[in-house]
Amino acid sequence: MQETKAIAEIRKAVKAWKQEGKTIGLVPTMGFLHEGHASLIKKCREDNDVVVVSDFVNPVQFGPAEDLEAYPRDFGRDSALCESLGVDMIFHPEPAEMYNDPHITVQVDTLNETLCGVTRPVHFGGVCTVVAKLFNIVSPDRAYFGEKDAQQLAIVKKMVIDLNFDITIVGCPIVREADGLARSSRNTYLNPEERQAALCLSRAVKKGQAVIGAGVEGETVLAPMRQEIEAEPLATIDYVQMVDALTMQPVARADGPVLVAMAVVVGKTRLIDNFSWSQDR
Ligand code: AMP
Repeated sequence: MQETKAIAEIRKAVKAWKQEGKTIGLVPTMGFLHEGHASLIKKCREDNDVVVVSDFVNPVQFGPAEDLEAYPRDFGRDSALCESLGVDMIFHPEPAEMYNDPHITVQVDTLNETLCGVTRPVHFGGVCTVVAKLFNIVSPDRAYFGEKDAQQLAIVKKMVIDLNFDITIVGCPIVREADGLARSSRNTYLNPEERQAALCLSRAVKKGQAVIGAGVEGETVLAPMRQEIEAEPLATIDYVQMVDALTMQPVARADGPVLVAMAVVVGKTRLIDNFSWSQDR
């Protein structure tokens, strides 16, 4: 496995792979890898000749009051995991390699105006900026994103269409702990009591899944979910919402494909979870 911090070096490798006619898959991550990331890497390994993982805590997707400094990092462990999963190259740049300030950022359209885009107004512009840069640096045939970050996945899919990237975006299912908690690098912030309290998110997902169906009103789905979270003293709801799966705009009923998503603060840690529903799924 190769490791590099340099854009020039990865470009050189990409050029050689392309000359050999190899297909390239990219898994963008912020590191501190867990089973969720591993599932994306495994799928990428199955689909492509070459697997590139980026491991970069992207400063421009964090708001001023967010956890950029505290975000967990362990490159040694990430590197060992990637090696064991058959990754060909890890790209682990320093912020100065990626950004010359001031720099141009990608602007997101209305998909940014609901769910996490409300509480984190700079987030998705920052995500799209780094993802567009990674796409230009790595020139992958396919790129892998988790459904855990469902709004991110929808926005990246839209960016690929709108900015004409010739890249297939592959969405991968949410990976959970045995007790239901969606895996996240941020779970490491939780103390044992908060870790237990955080189970209200996956319980709420189950409550919502149990009642959703064709034509069912949003409130019928969302009320039991909110109730589940409100019963947990350490949890505070940021949002629990049902939106159109493509446009991310709120919908009153489950008529077409929808995303039911939530953000909940447990202690001081903001966690997200969601489920998608469509008639044929
Ligand atoms: P992150 O390092 O948190 O930016 O995540 C990198 C990629 O891994 C994103 O596409 C995430 O959606 C995906 N991911 C993170 N956690 C999970 C999970 N529990 N299940 C599936 N994908 C995940």
